[in-house]
Amino acid sequence: MPEVSVALLPGDGIGPEVVAEAVRVIDAIAPDHDLAIDWHEHLMGGISIDAHGTALTDEVLAACAGADAVLLGAVGGPKWDTTDPDKPRPEQGLLGLRSGLGLYANLRPVRPWPALYDASPLRRERIEGTDLLVVRELTGGLYFGERGRQPDSAFDTCLYTTKEVVRLAEVGFRAAAGRRQKVTSVDKANVLETSRLWREKVTEVAAGHPDIALEHMLVDNAAMQLVSRPSDFDVIVTENLFGDILSDEAAMITGSIGMLPSASLGPGTLGLYEPVHGSAPDIAGQGIANPIATLLSAAMMLRYSLGAPEAADRIDGAVEKVLGQGHRTRDLGGDLGTAAVGDLILAAL
Ligand code: NAD
Repeated sequence: MPEVSVALLPGDGIGPEVVAEAVRVIDAIAPDHDLAIDWHEHLMGGISIDAHGTALTDEVLAACAGADAVLLGAVGGPKWDTTDPDKPRPEQGLLGLRSGLGLYANLRPVRPWPALYDASPLRRERIEGTDLLVVRELTGGLYFGERGRQPDSAFDTCLYTTKEVVRLAEVGFRAAAGRRQKVTSVDKANVLETSRLWREKVTEVAAGHPDIALEHMLVDNAAMQLVSRPSDFDVIVTENLFGDILSDEAAMITGSIGMLPSASLGPGTLGLYEPVHGSAPDIAGQGIANPIATLLSAAMMLRYSLGAPEAADRIDGAVEKVLGQGHRTRDLGGDLGTAAVGDLILAAL
C-alpha cells in the first residue's frame, strides 16, 4: 500500500476540533483506496507563537515542504490580536506557508447543497444551480507588498508581476475547461494600475484558450452580481485582496462559512487544504463547530494531492447524504455537535 505523508496543522480555536473529524474520516476510508496516511502533527499559528515566539518555525515549514500535502485547521484568536507591527501574529504563519511552499493559487468551490437551499440568507430561486469556483491569487498583491508605519500614517503596496498574473490565469482557464467554460476576471481596472496589467495579461492568456469565454468585471460590480445572480458565474479569477473578500461573500450563498473548503496549489502536486472559515473563538472548545468545510477540504486533498479522487467523491457523497437526512450543526440552524457530524459521515460512508 503506498504510504503518503500529510503534515497536520490543527492551529487554534476550533481548528483542532474540526481537523480531528477529518483525520477520523480519512483514516476510516483510506485502506479501501489503497492508501496509508502517515500524519505528522505540528504547531502553527497562535499556538506556535506561545511555544516558539513565531507563528511558523523553519522546521515546520520544511516538514510541510517535504510532505505530500498539508491539512490545516485555522489560526488566530483574541489572545494574539495586536496592533503592534513588531509583535508576531498567527496569520504570518499562513502567509509564510503560502509563500514558502509557492502556493500561488487558492481554489474555493462554492456550490450550495440542495438540502441547504433554505439555510442561505438568499432566496432559493436566486441560488439554485449555483456552482462556481473562485481562483484567488495567493502570494502577491497587497498582502505581500512593502508596508510601513509612521506615527500619523501607514501604507501597503500592491505589486503584481506579469508572471504572477499569467500563472494564476492559467489555473483559472484550465479549471474552466473541465467545467462550464467561462472565466470572469475581477479587477478594478478603472482605478488601479495593477488591475490594468491584470486585465491585459488575462486577456492574453485567454487567446490560448479559444473555447473558454472571458468576461472582465469590476470588483464592486462583482460583489453585487455575486448575490444577485450567482448561478451565472463559473470560474472567477482575481487578485489576492479581492479574492479574499469575494470568496467570503460567496460563502454565504451556501448558508454558512462552516461549509466551505479550499485548496492552495502551486506548480506541483503539493497542496495546502483548509476550511475557508477562521478559528471561531466565539464557539471554540464547545464541540459545536461545523466540521464539514474541513471534511470537504480533506476531500480536495485526496483529489488533488493524494491521487485518490474516488475517496474524495465518497466523502462528498456522504456529506450530501447526511445533509439530505436533515442533520445540521448550529450554524445551519440545528443542534448537532462536531463529533456527532463525524459519526454520521462515518455511518454514511
Ligand atoms: P471566523 O470564520 O473565525 O468566524 C466568523 C463567524 O462564523 C463566527 O461567528 C464563528 O462562530 C462562525 N464560524 C466560523 N467557522 C465555523 C464553523 N466551522 N462552524 C460554525 N460556525 C463557524 O472569522 P472571524 O471571527 O473574523 O475571525 C476569528 C479569528 O480567526 C481571527 O483571529 C482571525 O484572524 C482568524 N481567521 C483565520 C483564518 C484562517 O486560519 N485561515 C481565516 C479567517 C479568520
